[in-house]
Amino acid sequence: MIKLAEKQRVAVIGGGLAGLSAALNLAKHGLAVTLFERSINPGGRAQTTVKDGYHMNFGPHAHYVGGAGRPFLKELGIEPTGNPPPTGRSLAFFKKKNPVLPLSVKTILETTLLGPIDKIRLLKFMARLNSIKEDEVESLTVQEWVDSDKDLRHGSEALKGLIRTLAQLTTYTGDMGRLSAQAALVQLQLAVQSGVIYLHGGWAQMVDALLEKCLDAGVEVFAGCEVTELSRSTADHSFTVMYKDREKTSVNKTFDGIILASPPDVVKKILRVDNLLPGQSPLDLGGDELTDVKAACLDVCLTALPRPENTYALGIDEPLYYSVHSASAQLTPPNGALIHLAYYLKTGETSSHVIEKRLEEMMDTLQPGWREKLVHKRFLANIVVAHKLLSVKDGKLSGYWTEETNEPGVFRTGDWVGTHQLADASLGSAKRSSELLVAHFKEQINVSLKQETGKHLELAV
Ligand SMILES: Cc1cc2nc3c(=O)[nH]c(=O)nc-3n(C[C@H](O)[C@H](O)[C@H](O)COP(=O)(O)OP(=O)(O)OC[C@H]3O[C@@H](n4cnc5c(N)ncnc54)[C@H](O)[C@@H]3O)c2cc1C
Repeated sequence: MIKLAEKQRVAVIGGGLAGLSAALNLAKHGLAVTLFERSINPGGRAQTTVKDGYHMNFGPHAHYVGGAGRPFLKELGIEPTGNPPPTGRSLAFFKKKNPVLPLSVKTILETTLLGPIDKIRLLKFMARLNSIKEDEVESLTVQEWVDSDKDLRHGSEALKGLIRTLAQLTTYTGDMGRLSAQAALVQLQLAVQSGVIYLHGGWAQMVDALLEKCLDAGVEVFAGCEVTELSRSTADHSFTVMYKDREKTSVNKTFDGIILASPPDVVKKILRVDNLLPGQSPLDLGGDELTDVKAACLDVCLTALPRPENTYALGIDEPLYYSVHSASAQLTPPNGALIHLAYYLKTGETSSHVIEKRLEEMMDTLQPGWREKLVHKRFLANIVVAHKLLSVKDGKLSGYWTEETNEPGVFRTGDWVGTHQLADASLGSAKRSSELLVAHFKEQINVSLKQETGKHLELAV
């Protein structure tokens, strides 16, 4: 048995959840890994801002307990901890009223949002949700699904709106006319079967653990270093990464394999090579256009909650989200409160002051007098939640890229890669792309050994 050569050098470009976890997995396989991260602080959109003892994620973040990310994190030695959202007493925003949000049998029976027949329709729909097969809805958008489902199609606007709201909550996508019903079904089933948790200390819990383990495993972390170009040598098929170091000096480094873990527009940009060195050629990865899923988020830190009972609310006829994350997870100093609010944007919609005002009005309704208790607030006007919108094309799930590229030795990872969603897409594709790269090196070694010895050898890594 032959071990994979330790000399195989890999560059991971981008240090968010995808890049950090891919780098760690590759280092665990004995490869020499260099991770390039543009920002001084790795973590990307999973970073947590800590201010005066308040731990603010970039907008509301919930970790899917049954998602593709968790088993991979466990393999890497990380088990995120936290608690489920505080949905015990939740409210809906519908036609300027705030009835109970029906999320359980008890609250379905209690709510005035739905009439008696709609309550039965909802209970029947929820009872069979877990048994609906993906291929039953794969050719439909969420809008088409809701309009054709046997329990929902004759329902009121409030019932249909509730299902669209839950699809929006679990996918973050505000575009029900484009969002794939299959994608929504998968997320709804994940949410119902195993739920989500808010992480103690915010998502920094995951980022910090990944970074620490990367450093322990010998990953070279080049934070504050922006990759500007990526090309391939025509002579030996190695890759040249050109980057700007912290002093903004351009530097080249050569690698045997590449994991692209930066956003797709950055990938496109670094492949447009302006300064090709002699003997270098540009790369052609392939892949269709992607659509970003965006939201406007308001993060609010208070010394105390004026109305501690109002911990969770969702809009039914408006794309609104409100949750007191500190009611579940440890995120604030004693008595303090951290509330995340969001407005889901449609494709092409741009957030404005009006949306910020609407989120503040939501605060006025649920936490009157909150301004007197304000410590910090942050408005993220047009933040990209995910770099793909899973849609339907020719009756099938579409709108994503694969880990494989046209270039041997180059793989991609991120929330725009593969069919998992949100952070599970980043982590799921990080596992797959890093394993594909290891398999690629094994294959290369096998080919060269076969040429030398005429034998095919089993490799252990
Ligand atoms: C408001 C909001 C709410 C969310 N809620 C949830 C949720 O509830 N559940 C969930 O699962 N997910 C959620 N997500 C999604 C989740 O945060 C992301 O899917 C995940 O963090 C993306 O990780 P990534 O590594 O793929 O990308 P990123 O975090 O974007 O990382 C890419 C990294 O590449 C770096 N980079 C860019 N250009 C270069 C360059 N030229 N050279 C070097 N480095 C470069 C960037 O600085 C960045 O650090 C949410 C996201 C947002 C914004």
